[in-house]
Amino acid sequence: MNILVINCGSSSLKFQVINAESEKLLAKGLCERIGMDGSCITYENKADNTGKEFNEIPMPDHNKAVSLVLSALTNEKTGVLKSLSEIGAVGHRIVHGGEKFTSSVVITDEVIEAIKEVSDLAPLHNPANLIGVDACMSLMPGTPMVAVFDTAFHQTMPEKAYMYALPLKYYRDYKVRRYGFHGTSHSFVSKEAAKVAGRAYDDCKTIVCHLGNGASISAVMNGKCVDTSMGLTPLEGLIMGTRSGDLDPAIVDFIAGKEGITATEVTNVLNKKSGVFALSDGLSSDFRDLEDGYKGGNKYAKLAVDAFCYRVAKYIGSYTAAMNGVDVIAFTAGIGENSAFVRENIMAYLGYLGVACDKEENAKREDIHKISTADSKVLVYSIATNEELAIARETYELTK
Ligand code: ADP
Repeated sequence: MNILVINCGSSSLKFQVINAESEKLLAKGLCERIGMDGSCITYENKADNTGKEFNEIPMPDHNKAVSLVLSALTNEKTGVLKSLSEIGAVGHRIVHGGEKFTSSVVITDEVIEAIKEVSDLAPLHNPANLIGVDACMSLMPGTPMVAVFDTAFHQTMPEKAYMYALPLKYYRDYKVRRYGFHGTSHSFVSKEAAKVAGRAYDDCKTIVCHLGNGASISAVMNGKCVDTSMGLTPLEGLIMGTRSGDLDPAIVDFIAGKEGITATEVTNVLNKKSGVFALSDGLSSDFRDLEDGYKGGNKYAKLAVDAFCYRVAKYIGSYTAAMNGVDVIAFTAGIGENSAFVRENIMAYLGYLGVACDKEENAKREDIHKISTADSKVLVYSIATNEELAIARETYELTK
């Protein structure tokens, strides 16, 4: 059975076709600038490796984008499917499931209503995700659709981890609490980590460091997420590309007063103009540039990388305390998978846990590999995340 995986944003749509039994990637691509001038589609047939195709085609709306994706997939020359009937189900990434969704679900009218009801928690993402659902439903009526939520994996957190110390009214009336994001990745990587470590998933304490442009960390104990660093929104926790992560909440009012701007405008700065981008004095939010700057003696690049790694190390310490120990630490996502420099820098803080970095292994780039030494007390891995495959697996489970 083939699964079409859709990740729909307000002006973009990423897609993959994965065969559920072999888990082989058959095709992937991206529609960009939907509803704008200069919209384009990139398509790659991965089954025959016919190369990347790029086409500028007007896409006034997401329906047009989905219909172009379906045409590309069934194109006589470069398509990977003979007809749309070869798509058994569609898996949709949905950012926020609130407290309503603790796992993936087959999409029905009631599910769509429930996703709409929690959309005020993710006003930029959920409505865009639902546009993708709607477009697929109108072009593929009868094909089952599944919603896979970024927040669902974290719904196992205990109250003491997800409640903010605020008047309970805010939780009762507005559902203000920690939700966490990147759940599909934390779930996928924690399972892969237990597998490669030779541990039973339900008998293992794992810390997953998802370090990408957006970054979050989670504590997974005996197969359940018990804490994670992102909160009501993806702004909390680690220092990120352009997001501040944790800070004194009084800073918002203080800066608003000093600069004569609104709290919303300050929050925009915290989301878009902070993080390693700000600490590096505007050099870059990309760790490739920051590493080059660091090695070239740029003191702000050094500050940005040092502060980033220090924050991750502090979270690892607190999650080790939360779980009363840690068996496995896994690094994933753009930085976690690619930057030996950042991984080594973080691991240097963890000597007290008996973590020892195997520098030779750490320097390698592999999809899954151990980067701790044979005598390290904690197993440390770099593991490539694959959110699309995780969505395909969930979709297959619910529709096969
Ligand atoms: P997101 O999905 O949040 O946009 P990714 O997981 O794709 O982010 O990570 C993107 C980031 O990964 C880039 O901004 C960059 O900082 C980092 N990155 C990618 N490749 C490398 C590399 N070879 N070395 C260091 N950092 C890298």
